[in-house]
Amino acid sequence: MTHTPIDVDRARLETRGCGGLIHFNHAGSSLMPAAVADHLIGWQREEEFRGGYETANRRRHELENFYDASARLLNCHRDEIAFVENATRAWDMAFYALDLGPGDRILTAACEYGSNMIAYLHRAKRTGCVVDIVPDDAHGQLDVAALEAMIDDRVKLISISHIPTGGGLVNPAEAVGAVARRHGIPYLLDACQSVGQMPVDVKAIGCDFLSATGRKYLRGPRGTGLLYVRRDWITRLDPPLLDQHAATLLSETEYEIRDDARRFENWECHFAGKAALGTAIDYALGWGLEAIEARVTEIAERLRARLSEIPGITIQDQGQRRCGIVTFTKDGEAAADIKARLAPIGINVTASAGSGSRVGFGRRGLESVVRASVHYLNTTDEIDRFVTEIAA
Ligand SMILES: *Cc1c(COP(=O)(O)O)cnc(C)c1O
Repeated sequence: MTHTPIDVDRARLETRGCGGLIHFNHAGSSLMPAAVADHLIGWQREEEFRGGYETANRRRHELENFYDASARLLNCHRDEIAFVENATRAWDMAFYALDLGPGDRILTAACEYGSNMIAYLHRAKRTGCVVDIVPDDAHGQLDVAALEAMIDDRVKLISISHIPTGGGLVNPAEAVGAVARRHGIPYLLDACQSVGQMPVDVKAIGCDFLSATGRKYLRGPRGTGLLYVRRDWITRLDPPLLDQHAATLLSETEYEIRDDARRFENWECHFAGKAALGTAIDYALGWGLEAIEARVTEIAERLRARLSEIPGITIQDQGQRRCGIVTFTKDGEAAADIKARLAPIGINVTASAGSGSRVGFGRRGLESVVRASVHYLNTTDEIDRFVTEIAA
């Protein structure tokens, strides 16, 4: 596919935060572009002087833009999008709306996100449904053939993470979608780490529900997330929580639920964040997701190559297709110690351990990894400096 390559100098000029530090934590929370931060702060300043309701009324079109931008980003309709305070709650609103009874099976992958695993186990405890983990293939990603072989008429949901929080692989989401379609099984995709760093097209993937967050690769504000629900599912899902935005009280005894995806929203929300997330999405679309992915892949592969030249460093990323998340371990130095050593010199990474990646790390015998997550605005100079510090 042809695209205009990212103008990294411009991307950096438009990011006030990137001058003074090496930010390799875009999978945790990225740096907002100036346009996004200004939108967010400007909105809040206006709330301070005009009042929150008045600001929202006056700037309603900026709130509505969030739906149009999200629809362009994911290749869906604006009515299929809900604004939610984070990706976990967005995901919950779909997951907890699905009917699951005793013996019903949920199929997921070993690298599933910790909060999602907790929700599966929570419902298993409450309803008697069963969580089955599809094995990984030789590349360490979800084994699509094994998934297909596990399907029977008790499987009521296929639910996976597109990119695990603690590893650089991209799961074969489209192949999983083809299996889900073939067997008529609902498919929930946690796309928290993929949306914003690569094209994510809900029609091409074939998912019924998708969740994403604002603050990671989309470079939006914290406390923002979105949910996509495919049109023919919206009115079939009874949201686990309702308020007078999601529904209308008709009488003393009746209410009516909205018939668009906003039935999964809250009335009160982060208005400034919602408007600014729309701007962040437009900003990403302005670069183009193909161009972003090409640049992210190039810079991440370079980082992996340079790190693997250092004695004692092991790259821990698996998968056939890799992304901007680079994970590694170092002999004799714990991930948390590396993170703590880098922070005071202005290098941001995370140490991934524990609950977030429990099943996958447990199966791989991994305790923790350093997660250095890069984005299109990171440079080869930053990689050189980073690698020098890691080797020290
Ligand atoms: C970060 C993350 C989440 C949670 O997103 P929030 O916006 O913090 O709720 C879910 N899934 C994956 C794979 C993530 O990396």
